[in-house]
Amino acid sequence: MSHVHDVIILGSGPAGYTAAIYTARANLKPVLFTGLQPGGQLTITSDVENYPAFPEGVLGPELMEKFRAQAERFGTEMKDAMVDKVDFSQRPFRVWSDGVEYAAKSVIVATGASAMLLGLPSEQAFMGFGVSACATCDGFFFRGKRVIVVGGGDTALEEANFLTRFCTEVVLVHRRDQFRGSKIMQERALSNEKIRVIWNAEIAEVLGEKDKRVTAVKLRDTKSGAITEMPIDGVFVAIGHKPNTEFLGGQLATDGKGYVQVKPGTSYTNVEGVFAAGDVHDSVYRQAITAAGSGCMAAIDAERWLEAQAHAEQHAAGAAKH
Ligand code: FAD
Ligand code: NAP
Repeated sequence: MSHVHDVIILGSGPAGYTAAIYTARANLKPVLFTGLQPGGQLTITSDVENYPAFPEGVLGPELMEKFRAQAERFGTEMKDAMVDKVDFSQRPFRVWSDGVEYAAKSVIVATGASAMLLGLPSEQAFMGFGVSACATCDGFFFRGKRVIVVGGGDTALEEANFLTRFCTEVVLVHRRDQFRGSKIMQERALSNEKIRVIWNAEIAEVLGEKDKRVTAVKLRDTKSGAITEMPIDGVFVAIGHKPNTEFLGGQLATDGKGYVQVKPGTSYTNVEGVFAAGDVHDSVYRQAITAAGSGCMAAIDAERWLEAQAHAEQHAAGAAKH
C-alpha cells in the first residue's frame, strides 16, 4: 500500500484551491490533482468583476494564479494530472492517476463542470474550424468577422459582449424569448450596438468548407419549426456545463444531472470521509465565490472528521489495552 495521505483534493478551481489553502494551514499536507484544466473554468474567461476584494476586477487566469500561489505557500503538494479512477468502497480511499495509486484517509471532490455542446454532427465537424466553446480562447481569430453565440445564460451574454471587441456583429441565438442570465449582463448585451438577438431559434446545422471554415448556419424557429439559412463566420456555443463526475464510476450519490449530492448545509457526501465542493455539487449558484466558500467548508468538514476518526481510534486502542 502506498503512503496514506490525510487528504487528497481533486480539482484546481476556486473550490479545490481553497480546500487546499485551509487543509494545508491545518497541517494536513494536502495533495491536490489539478486535472487537465489547472485553475478551472475561470482560466477561460477574461474579466472577473464580481469576485470580492478586486474593486477594479481581475483577469480570470490571474485570479487563479493567486489562488494556486496561496495554496502552495502553505505546502500543498500539486500534481498536474488527472485522476482517472477512484475506489471509495473501503478505507483508506484510493485514487489512480496515470496508472499510479494514491491512498488517503479523506478525499475532497472539487472537479467542477465542463462546457456542454449542442450535439450536432456538423458542430463536431467544424469544432476548431469556426465552432468554439470558448470566446476568450478563440475570439481573437474572428477579428472583423460576424459570429453567432448560442445560449441565453450569463456565459452566452458575457461571451457575446467580449466578442464585440473583435467582431463587427455578434448574433445571440436563444431558444426562448427570455434570457436566463443576470439583469446586469442582459442590459449590457441588449445595449451593445454590435449585438443582435434572434429569439426562439436554435442551430439546426453548421455549414462551411470542411476542415477550413464555417460559412453559414441553418436556423430552426423553435415555435414554427421553419428553417432559414444565415451566412456567418463563426459559432460560439455557450449553453452551460455538466459536472465532471463520470470518473467517479457512480460511487457517490448524484442527482439526475450528475451533480454530487451533499448533506444540506455541509460538504458531506453519502460516503463518510469523502466531501464535495464547488460546481461539481452546485447546480444553483455556480460562482467562483460560492465554489471557494464550499471549498472552505469541505476543508473544515474533512479536518473535523479526521480529528473525530483519530479520537475514535485512540479510544478503541485504549479500550483494547484494558
Ligand atoms: P472548476 O472551476 O470547474 O474547476 C474544476 C477543476 O477540476 C479543474 O481544475 C479541472 O481540471 C479539475 N478536474 C476535472 N476532472 C478532474 C479529474 N478527473 N481529476 C482531477 N481534476 C479534475 N463565476 C463568477 O463568480 N464570476 C465570473 O465572472 C464568472 N465568469 C465565468 C466565465 C465563464 C466563461 C465560465 C465558464 C464560468 C464563469 N464563472 C464565473 C463561474 C465560475 O468559473 C465557476 O463557478 C467556478 O470556476 C467553479 O469552481 P470549481 O472549483 O467548482 O470548479
Ligand atoms: P446556464 O445558466 O445554465 O445557461 C445555459 C443557457 O443555454 C440557457 O439559456 C439555456 O436555455 C441554453 N441552452 C441549454 N442547452 C441548450 C441547447 N441544447 N440548445 C440551445 N440552448 C441551450 O449556464 P451558463 O450561462 O454557462 O452559466 C452557468 C453559471 O455560471 C451561472 O450560475 C452563471 O451565473 C455563472 N456565470 C456568471 C458569470 C458572471 O457573473 N459574470 C459569467 C458566466 C457564468 P434555457 O434558458 O432555455 O434553459
